[in-house]
Amino acid sequence: MKHKNLFSIALLLLTCISCEKEPNIEKQQTPETQISYAPEEAFPNKPKEPYTFPNGITVMKCDSMYIYQGDVILSSAQVDSMNKASDVKSMGTNKYVNFWPYSKIYYTIAPSMQNVNRVTTAMAYYSRFTGIEFIKRTNQRDYIYFQSKTGDGNYSNCIGMKGGKQIINLDTDGTYGTAIHEIGHALGLEHEQCRPDRDDYVTINFDAIPNKYWKNQYKKQSIDNCFYLDSFDFYSVMLYGSYLYYNNKNILVMKKKDGSVFFNQRSRLSPDDVIGINYIYGPPYAQLVTKNISEDDNVGGGLDYADIIFSNTLYFYSDKACQHPTTTTQKRMITIYYRFYQQYYNNPPSTRTASHNVIIPAGVDHYEIGNTELISQSEYGYNDLDQGETYSISGVCQ
Ligand SMILES: [Zn+2]
Repeated sequence: MKHKNLFSIALLLLTCISCEKEPNIEKQQTPETQISYAPEEAFPNKPKEPYTFPNGITVMKCDSMYIYQGDVILSSAQVDSMNKASDVKSMGTNKYVNFWPYSKIYYTIAPSMQNVNRVTTAMAYYSRFTGIEFIKRTNQRDYIYFQSKTGDGNYSNCIGMKGGKQIINLDTDGTYGTAIHEIGHALGLEHEQCRPDRDDYVTINFDAIPNKYWKNQYKKQSIDNCFYLDSFDFYSVMLYGSYLYYNNKNILVMKKKDGSVFFNQRSRLSPDDVIGINYIYGPPYAQLVTKNISEDDNVGGGLDYADIIFSNTLYFYSDKACQHPTTTTQKRMITIYYRFYQQYYNNPPSTRTASHNVIIPAGVDHYEIGNTELISQSEYGYNDLDQGETYSISGVCQ
């Protein structure tokens, strides 16, 4: 899957039960083993009811939590956003999903975490094959907290960056592959079988799916609700297998269009997973260069505050230190976060934030992302202020 969407967990039939040995992460291209893993599930023992937001997205409500695609708990900001009927933008854009600035993920591992190497091995996959950098948290505001509360299932409590502390729980049946999957959600990925174009690749037998909880997990995303790259990826770590392992029964739910079955792997990032993640987080890496292009507007006399304008250009590099210029070989998506301050008539200033995604085409070594009016101030005597700044960008060097 070049990119995209997420998916699930682990339990399974056959043999390999605790192969928790350190895997060789260089074996990225190894064919999948024919094993069915049970999908990841948050709070498997708690009752859940379907709940449809005004924007049309259905989730499962569990206590006060809204569970998306089975193992993602929506943040309160995401719930607020979905409650706006008109807000039909995508999970794949930052209306719902915030990507991690500068591709840096701060994390803490709970002291009581069991099998810590599940987490460290999963992180090694991301570090080796993508631009994601994992850094132990000291006092950063936004971070992932890895824990292993038994019975709570395997889940990520946000899709993308939640803001503040966000949890990834690995239950006793969670493997390092489960951790790769849940980290994928925390980075902003959804389940592959929910892609808007999935009906071109798989046939789903909804009659075979045991209940409304599981049926909901096979719901297709609206084209407005996510972005995806290239074709469906049968090797994605974010994909469920043909079989749903439920109540000790192996139920055939999905088949390829040619009628054959497929298995969900939980042992690596697929090559297309890597491409999808790098679409958002790099490499290539980018550096923002801001240049003062102020020009006198002939109002107020000379260069004044109303005239101060900066141009913003991204330059691309093959290395994280941004020393070696390069050209993009595939599309890149970069999220730009802005902060605005406004003050009128000497009232206290207000602050708001906004963001948008920019798609960078392949074959460029730099890209103009527009100008910023850094400061403007009334030229008629009031102490007005209208200031915008670019304060963070996903997938760039810092
Ligand atoms: Zn999942």
